[in-house]
Amino acid sequence: MAKINLNMERCKGCGLCIGACPIDNLRMSEELNSKGYPFAEVIDKDKCTGCALCCRMCPDVAIEIEK
Ligand code: SF4
Ligand code: SF4
Repeated sequence: MAKINLNMERCKGCGLCIGACPIDNLRMSEELNSKGYPFAEVIDKDKCTGCALCCRMCPDVAIEIEK
């Protein structure tokens, strides 16, 4: 099972990963990180397929997939 790790402190809230997820499993947080940005969060870690499209899209290397 793939494990997705999203570093909320690296995220700038651009939303590119959210549009890239084929199963719509990412959303923007309601809270802000310490830099004042909303951040992407995984809706259901168990549903993540590990396709890595989100991490390839992220300009800030905030997402890692462990296989
Ligand atoms: S690895 Fe794939 S399925 Fe999982 S959150 Fe990223 S884009 Fe979605
Ligand atoms: S693509 Fe990266 S920086 Fe942009 S919202 Fe997603 S995790 Fe955050």
